[in-house]
Amino acid sequence: MAITHWIGGRAVAGTSGRSGPVFDPARGVQTGEVAFATAAEVGDAVKVATEAAESWRESAVSRRAALMFRLRELIDGHRNELAAAVTAEHGKVRSDALGEVARGLDCVEFACGIPQLLKGSHSADVSAGIDVHTVLQPLGVVAGITPFNFPVMVPLWMLANAMACGNAFILKPSEKDPSPSILLAELIAEAGFPDGVFNVVQGDVDAVNALLTHPDVDAVSFVGSTPVARHVYETGTRHGKRVQALGGAKNHMVVLPDADIDAAADAAISAAYGSAGERCMAISVVVAVGSVADPLVQAISRRIPDVVIGPGNDERSMMGPLITREHRDRVRSYVDGATQAGATVVVDGSAGAAVGGADGGADGGGFFYGCSLIDGVEPGMSVYDDEIFGPVLSVVRVRSYDDAVALVNANPYGNGVALFTRDGGVARQFEREIEVGMVGINVPIPVPVAWHSFGGWKSSIFGDSAIYGPDGIRFYTQPKVVTTRWPDPSSSIVDLGFPTHH
Ligand code: NAD
Repeated sequence: MAITHWIGGRAVAGTSGRSGPVFDPARGVQTGEVAFATAAEVGDAVKVATEAAESWRESAVSRRAALMFRLRELIDGHRNELAAAVTAEHGKVRSDALGEVARGLDCVEFACGIPQLLKGSHSADVSAGIDVHTVLQPLGVVAGITPFNFPVMVPLWMLANAMACGNAFILKPSEKDPSPSILLAELIAEAGFPDGVFNVVQGDVDAVNALLTHPDVDAVSFVGSTPVARHVYETGTRHGKRVQALGGAKNHMVVLPDADIDAAADAAISAAYGSAGERCMAISVVVAVGSVADPLVQAISRRIPDVVIGPGNDERSMMGPLITREHRDRVRSYVDGATQAGATVVVDGSAGAAVGGADGGADGGGFFYGCSLIDGVEPGMSVYDDEIFGPVLSVVRVRSYDDAVALVNANPYGNGVALFTRDGGVARQFEREIEVGMVGINVPIPVPVAWHSFGGWKSSIFGDSAIYGPDGIRFYTQPKVVTTRWPDPSSSIVDLGFPTHH
């Protein structure tokens, strides 16, 4: 199946002659071919979006809200179809894909409140007969560049607020699972958004760089890995754009000796192996404090055989395959290298690779890999230092709470962190001391709800703005402050002094 662009309200076939294969990762077979846009094709999309933005920015905010409500209904009604498209190309299990759609829908629901969100502010009588008000105006054309791991949710993090604020939007989805973007485009068109307000350009680095350097793209939202986030931020800002770029992660789960071991082990399994660890908020390191380490490692390893690995469209599966064969092999190489680095592989996920058939080997079968658990991990080992983005959970043993905080704060990433304890005082202290953007207290994956904003610290983000929620509205608008006087001509005088309000 050929996967197209979407420009000006319709599917547009690629003309570049460049394209890439799309796989069903559960079977390891190619199911589609996605067009890769050239700079010229990106230019076409920007032109269409620029024209559409002119009238869209003038549209009544109540109309934009009404369209957003319709989109909300359509996405709600097509949950299963969207989730199936995610499973088909990403591989995640159905319940997980439905969860992704639900969390994306939350952002559309938030954007339904756009009249309230764009209200601005007003100060009457700042001086005699003078009023001041602030309006939030759209930027114009904004682009969203998204990762493979949430092909529905992450685009919705961006496009709902961007379009509700009165901007035209161009999505550049991941080339690994591009089809859900076209389903979203069809629903947006069906909801009645004017042609050109939402566009999709498929592609790779060429399409991204064309967006980053095009003079008529006003802002760029990016979610993906840290090296690319840095490139996007630096290139986009150098070309005069407002940029928010969310990067990778290494998320720790600190377990104190007073924690409930079974609850912590359940949480660690869910947060480390859900979506095969391909989540930027996945827990990849358990920090076991003091005496909790042995019983916790036992409790986690006891649960691993119960994780059913299989195709995402099989209702029995709890964990699906990885996104590509290369990525699966890279994940495997981390586990293979851990023993030599001095760690202890408690559970090796290699056996899970057999689920894919053809023994999960290099020549065929699905891209499966089982849950791995590695104890005795320390900073300096690649399993600790790198974002693996697979079902690999490391355990770092530390002596004290202070050592745990020091470990987390020394890590270059700062996306998510969790603390498991029964001690409210320590939890409060942790919440204040920890240098991470999203903190869970007995919550392993603290992804904020849609009316808060999502964003890490340190190398997990470039730019000043978190994504969606109130930060999303600020990011996609430009404030303008208007000072007004309607003077009585009879009292008009010449006054060369600097205006004060007294
Ligand atoms: P990626 O960085 O490889 O790709 C992201 C996007 O950038 C894709 O659209 C891709 O086509 C494009 N791209 C890739 N290489 C590029 C290059 N050299 N120049 C320009 N554009 C390029 O990320 P991915 O593998 O698709 O997604 C996984 C990564 O995303 C992980 O690091 C994960 O932590 C991160 N992520 C972060 C968040 C967050 O909110 N912080 C959320 C989801 C995923």
